[in-house]
Amino acid sequence: MNPHASIPVGAIKTRVLILLIALIVCGVAGTVILTHFIKPGRKPDAVTAAQPATPRADLPPGIAAAALTLETTHYVISSNATPEQTALVAQAVESLYAAYTTFFREEIALAPRPPKLKLMLFKDQAEFKAHNTSHPWAEAFYRAPWSYAYYDAAAKNPYHWMLHEATHQLRNEVAHFPKVKWIDEGIATYFSTSHIRDGKLIPGDVDPDTYPIWHLRGLTLTGDLQDDIRKGRIIPLRDLMADTGPPVGRNVNLYYIEYWSLTYFLFHHEDGKYAKQYKTLIAQEGSLEGFEKLVEPAERIQSAWYEYLNSRISDISAMARLRVPVTAV
Ligand SMILES: [Zn+2]
Repeated sequence: MNPHASIPVGAIKTRVLILLIALIVCGVAGTVILTHFIKPGRKPDAVTAAQPATPRADLPPGIAAAALTLETTHYVISSNATPEQTALVAQAVESLYAAYTTFFREEIALAPRPPKLKLMLFKDQAEFKAHNTSHPWAEAFYRAPWSYAYYDAAAKNPYHWMLHEATHQLRNEVAHFPKVKWIDEGIATYFSTSHIRDGKLIPGDVDPDTYPIWHLRGLTLTGDLQDDIRKGRIIPLRDLMADTGPPVGRNVNLYYIEYWSLTYFLFHHEDGKYAKQYKTLIAQEGSLEGFEKLVEPAERIQSAWYEYLNSRISDISAMARLRVPVTAV
């Protein structure tokens, strides 16, 4: 049986008309009520809650604004570089994060929901220099919780400055390793001089278009370790580790070459025979005494490292294409 068969057509029209009038009245009344509570230019709370705006990233001291903010899995990047350049740096630091935490997986206890790491990317060297509060010769620096660097558009490797600082940041904020200068700079140069291939940073795969690798060819060694030490061409490892060598300001590139090459040596010499002990030293404490207890006496390492440095200079110089000297801290 059809339930509507007994209702007259006229009655249906009347009911529909009444229903339409009721809907119009309710609609107008509702609009008036909502308009009363919603201030111009402000979304109602329910809308704000359902569609939260991206929080404005905080900025480092002295930076009033940034052209854009890019968030990735582990980083928030305030940037004055272009979106494409910023994305490239973002990919590079994420690849660094993956490589670093994998490399030290036995020494690091990762927090389940760590805060994002902060990067400030300047558009070029001039803008960075205008905001540089580190050494005047610095090309990048880390001052917790911010890493500062610029996009080096003229460079074959435009992001290695940021990788250097981001490695310092990982030690401090993710790994929580103690800060020991020769190790801190050694690890930073080790990762920042590594190639990124197909989006993956390969630790120890040396990119000659990075600092301080491009200075290797300018390092003139005689092959006589003691003679080179006497003439100031080599800083003895005991001084390097104890931070008792000649002034850094007048020997910056030599220091960084030694930081890099000693760390590289300890990870790779004779198929990495010192790697495990070195990682233990990095995670615990990096004093000279600790090094000699965990690894080898400094003089014995020094002779082997010096030979190794000479061979690396030959290897890398052969493929290096030198660039303008610049420096990171
Ligand atoms: Zn550094």
